[in-house]
Amino acid sequence: MHHRDKTACPQGHPYDEQNTRWYRGRRYCKACNCKNGNQWRERKRAELGEVLPPGLTRRQAAAKTRWALRREKFGPSGVRPEIVARLREEARLRILRNGNQHSGKTHCCRGHKYQPGSYYVGKRGNRQCKACMLIHVGQKRWRTAAEKKRAAAVVLARAYMIDVGIRANREPDSAYWRARYEAAIARWQKLKQAA
Ligand SMILES: [Zn+2]
Ligand SMILES: [Zn+2]
Repeated sequence: MHHRDKTACPQGHPYDEQNTRWYRGRRYCKACNCKNGNQWRERKRAELGEVLPPGLTRRQAAAKTRWALRREKFGPSGVRPEIVARLREEARLRILRNGNQHSGKTHCCRGHKYQPGSYYVGKRGNRQCKACMLIHVGQKRWRTAAEKKRAAAVVLARAYMIDVGIRANREPDSAYWRARYEAAIARWQKLKQAA
């Protein structure tokens, strides 16, 4: 039988339209080509001493390496900064347009009711509960700048008093440290009353 009358390759793959590659007037079996190519590549990789990290496929290992390189180049996200900025801006506009999963809520996560004046509106249209902000900074009410300054002075005076107190305790015979400690306590109490 002549070669061109055969309907299948020596391995039995059909010489149909899909599986046949014509090259310089000869037919080649695509399935065999593919298999041989893969086997050749496997051999070559073994020769070159390819080592895959355990538990990863070759594709996963390559992706891991690629992302490591990208993170080195573009920072933690591994994506070009201009693309990150564009996606952020798109997300921001989308949220402004359509709202997000919080938009329909009538109360904040701590259960304070959202009503006019009870929240701030952020850049992305998000609502920030004022009562929660107060809780977050550990205050019962808003303080003026001067009040905040006085409160900070109390914190500093207290820290100083504790430092001196430790020193005075370590040297119980030292009148000098005892006196400094008492002065620090007095100063702290005075500042606390003023605040
Ligand atoms: Zn074949
Ligand atoms: Zn709240």
